Amino acid sequence: MARVFSGIQPSGELHIGNYLGAVRNWVALQATHECVFCIVDYHAITQAYEPEQLEARTFDMAVSLLAAGLDPARCILFVQSHVPEHTELTWVFTTVTPVGELERMTQFKDKAQRQESVLAGLLNYPVLQAADVLLYRATVVPVGEDQVQHLELMREVARKWNARFREDFFPEPQPMLSAARRIVGLDGDAKMSKSLGNTIGLLDPPERIWELLRPAKTDPARVTRKDPGDPEKCNIYSLHQYFSPPDTVRHVADQCRTAGWGCLDCKRVLADNLAAALAPIRERATELKARPERVREILADGAARAHAIARETMAAVRDAMGFLPAGEVTLRR
Ligand code: SF4
Repeated sequence: MARVFSGIQPSGELHIGNYLGAVRNWVALQATHECVFCIVDYHAITQAYEPEQLEARTFDMAVSLLAAGLDPARCILFVQSHVPEHTELTWVFTTVTPVGELERMTQFKDKAQRQESVLAGLLNYPVLQAADVLLYRATVVPVGEDQVQHLELMREVARKWNARFREDFFPEPQPMLSAARRIVGLDGDAKMSKSLGNTIGLLDPPERIWELLRPAKTDPARVTRKDPGDPEKCNIYSLHQYFSPPDTVRHVADQCRTAGWGCLDCKRVLADNLAAALAPIRERATELKARPERVREILADGAARAHAIARETMAAVRDAMGFLPAGEVTLRR
C-alpha cells in the first residue's frame, strides 16, 4: 500500500472550501493508502500569528478533521511540533537545497513582497514541507495546483540528498492532484479562504449557513427577479453541484435560465441541502468537543506512531551522513 502524506495548517475549524478541496479526498484515501495526516503548526508560525490562539486553533482543526471522517484506526493524525524530527530533517535538507531554488518559488515571492523584512522561515517553508513528506518516505502527496512547484522542489531535495549520501533512500514523491476544482468563496471571486472572510464553516449551524448564503454573490445578469440568469456564471450553482442531488442540480439550472426561481429561492434550497449534508459532521464535532481528552489522546497516539517512523528515518539519515551516534565515545574507524 503506497504511503500518503498531507498536511493542513491549524486555522481553527475547517470550512467547506478546504473540506471539498482536500479533506474529503483524505477521508477516501484511508481506504486505499497508508495515510499520514499532519496539522502543520510549524508552517503556521512563518506568518504573523497570535500565540494565545494557536493551541485552540490546532485543537479545533483536529476536531474538524476527525468529525469530517478521519479515522485514527485507519490513518495517523498528529501535530507536527509533537514530532521533533520534522525540524531536524529540515536542517539537514537546508544543507543540500540551493537558496536560488527557494527564492524562485512563486508563493515565496508573493508573500515576501508583502513583508517589510523577509524572514528565513518563509524562505525555508518548502524545505520544511520536503522534510514533512520525506521523513515518512511517503510516495504520494495530494496537492492543489498551487503546491505543484513545492512538490517539484521536494523531489529535487530528495535527489540531491540521495546522490550525496545514500542512493535511492528517499523516494521522489508523486503529486496526486485534487479532483475538486478551486472552490470559490461567497464573494464569487476569490478562492474560499478564512482570511478573506468568504467561507461557510464546516460546523456552522443551519441558521448561520443561511445568514452567510443570503447575501452571497450570484450571476450579475439577474438584476431583478424576472431577469433570467446563467447558472454557469454563478457560484451558488457550483455549490449545488457539490451538495444537492443531481435532479435538483438540473432543476436549479432550468429555474435559473427561465427565471422561474429568484436567487433567494435557489439559495434557500442550497442552504437546506448544505445543512443536511453537514449535520452528521456537526454532530460528531459536538461529541468530540464534549470529550477533549479523547481528542488529545488520539493526537498523542498519532504522534507516537509518526514518531516511530520518523525516528527510524532519522537514524538512517544520521548514519548515512556520518554523524557520531549518541552515547558512543570512540570514533568508528
Ligand atoms: S438562480 Fe441560482 S444559479 Fe441562478 S443566478 Fe440565482 S443563485 Fe445563481
